[in-house]
Amino acid sequence: MSAGAIDYSKTKTFLIDTTKCTGCRGCQVACKQWNQLKAENTTFFTGEGYQNPPGMSEFTFTRVKFKDYQKHGQNEFAFYKEMCMHCNDPACASVCPVGAFEKTAEGPVVYHSKKCIGCRFCMVACPFGIPKYEWSKAFPLVKKCTGCYSRVKNGLDPACATACPTAITYGPRDEMIKEAEKRMSARPDRYVKVVYGKEEAGGTTVLYLTQQPLDELGFKPVTKRPLPSYTWQALRLVPGIFLTVGGTLSLITWFQHRKDRVRKEEEEQKNRKEGNQ
Ligand code: SF4
Ligand code: SF4
Ligand code: SF4
Repeated sequence: MSAGAIDYSKTKTFLIDTTKCTGCRGCQVACKQWNQLKAENTTFFTGEGYQNPPGMSEFTFTRVKFKDYQKHGQNEFAFYKEMCMHCNDPACASVCPVGAFEKTAEGPVVYHSKKCIGCRFCMVACPFGIPKYEWSKAFPLVKKCTGCYSRVKNGLDPACATACPTAITYGPRDEMIKEAEKRMSARPDRYVKVVYGKEEAGGTTVLYLTQQPLDELGFKPVTKRPLPSYTWQALRLVPGIFLTVGGTLSLITWFQHRKDRVRKEEEEQKNRKEGNQ
């Protein structure tokens, strides 16, 4: 289904109620297991807070952030799960010169590694800093949360949503917005009156409810305008990526050649290894 035909009110959406998150990190573990992502070396205190690992990476598609704050003279913790926001109109997709990202009719924004040429424009364009590069590889591609598309298209909920005991509700976007508004009206003392993701970046399929003001929790202020309308303008200002139509085509050709060359070298190396056995 083309992006133009998507009914955004029905796309599958995460409602993450940070006031109910216990910081158990079951979602982090479930994501690692489902996606068979390797563990990373971590330390207890990272300097930024108590979250572990210290950042999202090619091996970590979601992470529970810990934020300590003071309320009525008491120390309190807030926890919230970071992940790809699966934007309605994704900047990563709009800027990719070879169409490696796709907004699906079900909701997740998926990545087609076979198309990717490793140019990293998506990493510059994403307002949430989500796509990560495979620095550990000879020909790095991009990694990010898949929205568990293989599960969702078969009628299952994402692995992290299934594992979460308290904080994640998953369902059609219009129902998740209604549910969020219902909770805010029922408990005005418990929630700040904002659903983060309802309008940010033109709307996303990950929504957050919080008890603290968003800036105190470290949520990025993001424009409400869909970002694809100006991602190319922004990219032109990035040093080293000054793009003209001719320049873009040359870059794509260069990246494609590099990709083919590295693949060929990898195949030759594999054949040599097999020949030695
Ligand atoms: S959060 Fe970033 S990577 Fe995820 S869909 Fe939006 S623009 Fe793309
Ligand atoms: S939706 Fe799937 S890939 Fe994304 S954070 Fe959850 S478990 Fe990981
Ligand atoms: S599984 Fe749920 S409660 Fe546990 S850390 Fe993740 S979002 Fe919070």
